[in-house]
Amino acid sequence: MKYFSLYRNSPEVSFKEAVIKGLAPDKGLYYPSEISKLPVNFFRRIEGLENETIAYEVIKQFIGDEIPENNLKQIITEVLSFEFPLVELDTRISSLELYHGPTLAFKDVGARFMARCLGYFNSKMVTKEEVTVLVATSGDTGGAVANGFYEVEGVDVVILYPSGKVSDIQEKQLTTLGKNIRAIEVDGTFDDCQTMVKRAFSDQDFDGKRNLTSANSINVSRWLPQMFYYFFAYKQLKSKGKELVFSVPSGNFGNICAGMMAQKLGLPVNHFVTGTNINNIVPEYLKTGSYLPKPSKATISNAMDVGAPSNFIRIQELYGNDLLELRKNLSGYSYTDTETIDAMQYLFNEKNYIADPHGAIGYLALEKYLRGKSNLEGVFLETAHPVKFQDVIPSEISEKITIPESIKKILNKEKKVKKLSTYEALKAYLLS
Ligand SMILES: *Cc1c(COP(=O)(O)O)cnc(C)c1O
Repeated sequence: MKYFSLYRNSPEVSFKEAVIKGLAPDKGLYYPSEISKLPVNFFRRIEGLENETIAYEVIKQFIGDEIPENNLKQIITEVLSFEFPLVELDTRISSLELYHGPTLAFKDVGARFMARCLGYFNSKMVTKEEVTVLVATSGDTGGAVANGFYEVEGVDVVILYPSGKVSDIQEKQLTTLGKNIRAIEVDGTFDDCQTMVKRAFSDQDFDGKRNLTSANSINVSRWLPQMFYYFFAYKQLKSKGKELVFSVPSGNFGNICAGMMAQKLGLPVNHFVTGTNINNIVPEYLKTGSYLPKPSKATISNAMDVGAPSNFIRIQELYGNDLLELRKNLSGYSYTDTETIDAMQYLFNEKNYIADPHGAIGYLALEKYLRGKSNLEGVFLETAHPVKFQDVIPSEISEKITIPESIKKILNKEKKVKKLSTYEALKAYLLS
């Protein structure tokens, strides 16, 4: 499969090259050059298929012959080694819990898939080159990437995170592993971290010295496996015979864009809804037609504190840059922290469900869209385990959260970080 740059000023590359490079030389995001619908027969028998089989059928066209069938199936089996339960909150709304992976984040799937693809390509190289994965995190990416790449041979991982703006558990997840995983605490915002990372990628002083690649959701091998979730939900709801609406709490818009790609492959989806916090660039764009990135603002749903959503350009491409077409398929609403807390309280009191702040925003947006549309069935994506956001969940609720074993283990481990705040310091550190 070939990938082209969305800035259309770079040569087409293979899947392998797109994974290793992350971004195209012209700084555009890579995008598949062909997208084929899955056979009708696949959807007819989907409820009888294992998750691994579904995932293989969905992803194989995006990889082509670059990873042999057996290796790809093995990668998928390792990546999907946990549950994706759909929890019914009432007759028409369910929560698709994507947080049962090793770091309790939906990003585990993409991070693990990417790590294993890179690991596979590395193992096939005649002269082994160290790859440095450089990534900025607003919270959940860091832990998922750290865990996914932990002990992967030939890959060194450097993670930048904004000091004091990630939760305790998130910080522990990325600062306590050691070995090939290094964490950098930046005195600044997530956008500052992302700016430093982007600058490093375009800095020619690294050429021939450090092989830098990205593990942010712009990497095609992190983005595309997120399509699986939507197929898994459809598989479980198909027998109800209703049309599906997916609501996705969004920051960089990689997850929802993967859902839209799933729809392009033929998955029957009636509509997508995005819920954001006050970093509402996309809901505002849908409303006004003006796309205005802004510096991000801190909220309690911090994994969505993104002021310039990097994957939105892929959504634009999917809809031929046609706002009217996009509006037919996507609605967006934004919520304040107070509304988010009220929603968590409501879900706890009325539905006996503990949601994290991101999932709560997904719920709010879904509930709003479904009002008065009785023919539709809704699923919101619950993207993180509530335990990771204990400090912002009302205490009456957070007391009821059972702490998973994987979290208990890391809480007592010692944090190891390097503190730095300028691009020059980062560069010196990476070149040393
Ligand atoms: C990353 C993240 C999101 C946003 O996902 P995008 O693909 O960036 O839109 C939402 N919720 C949680 C918990 C996350 O970690």
